[in-house]
Amino acid sequence: MNFDKITEPLDQRLYDGLTRLAAVARQLDWQAAESAGLSPTQADILRFVASRPEGIRLTAAAAHAGIRKATASDAVTTLENKSLLRKQTDATDGRAIALKATAKGKRIAREWPASFGPVVECLSESEQESLLALVIKMIRQLQQRQLIAPQRTCVTCRHFRENVAPGTSTPHFCAFVDAPMAERHLRVDCPEHESAA
Ligand code: SF4
Repeated sequence: MNFDKITEPLDQRLYDGLTRLAAVARQLDWQAAESAGLSPTQADILRFVASRPEGIRLTAAAAHAGIRKATASDAVTTLENKSLLRKQTDATDGRAIALKATAKGKRIAREWPASFGPVVECLSESEQESLLALVIKMIRQLQQRQLIAPQRTCVTCRHFRENVAPGTSTPHFCAFVDAPMAERHLRVDCPEHESAA
């Protein structure tokens, strides 16, 4: 028997596997949201806003959650009513409104369980490092194709110097902290990120 003839194509099996993993993470996220008295969308927006203490516009929150602005606006109103978010004038544009998490909102976001925790814990440290490189590659390509909202990853940051010391254990460099970086140091959501675009 030749397995090339009887198995589904490789990419199909990857789609299936990733779908199963995403379902586990989504289920854990939904359980955490339910315990906090929030919908999954409200929870997603709360955590996104809480990770941006400088404040963030509604449009960016909607893009992050992959929902329409009107839907995001409803979620924000609910979060405001629960005293988890507040709106205030944007420091960079006096006519615009920025969303900020309250102390209570920040605490809930900080204590949120890592939804992919059980998935990542299955891997050794070197496997996690390999997976991180693949995840960052996928995020970069999806962002270039505008299939996900802009992410605060090293590979899209103006401070990132890619592969400036090839063949070494720390081939990359972050000009913000002025330090060399290995693949395992690459960040996916860095607060100091500034877009290279
Ligand atoms: S500032 Fe942050 S995102 Fe930018 S290169 Fe340095 S660590 Fe990476």
